Amino acid sequence: YTGKEPAEVLTNKIRNILVRDVQSLPIVIKEDTSIYEAIVKMFLEDVGTLYAIDEDKDLVGVISRKDLLKGTMGKNDIERAPVSIIMTRRPHITTCYPNDLLIYAANQLIEKQIDSIPVIDKDADKDIVIGRITKTNITKVFVNLME
Ligand code: ADP
Repeated sequence: YTGKEPAEVLTNKIRNILVRDVQSLPIVIKEDTSIYEAIVKMFLEDVGTLYAIDEDKDLVGVISRKDLLKGTMGKNDIERAPVSIIMTRRPHITTCYPNDLLIYAANQLIEKQIDSIPVIDKDADKDIVIGRITKTNITKVFVNLME
């Protein structure tokens, strides 16, 4: 026995990884947060994407680095203008569930050309953000599999 795994074993391992096995904590802000505060939050939390929620904690938006850059370029008063004017909204948000296959989420990242996907829990008719899948997450899985 060489200690090497046959390709099939590795492939099966990858196919069985679920979103919940690798998801990390989401950073969430209220939709009326100012663009300025969102930028500060992004630096403090060291993330590339923030998720916006309404007063019912329902997911209503995604805010990326470039969304915030765009928000600083117009005539916005960024200390007053809320992130809701620049965020990507429903129904355009790509989401996933904890029990989805990771490979499904990875495919979504590529297909939609985005950096992260919020992981949601359906609570009544609300989408509660409980995690995120990012390119970094998936790169870590890749490295772990190779080690
Ligand atoms: P950046 O814009 O900083 O390069 P992304 O590639 O993640 O980061 O975002 C590109 C655009 O797609 C942004 O406008 C962002 O709001 C949007 N976006 C990011 N993640 C999602 C998602 N999960 N679902 C829908 N839109 C998203």
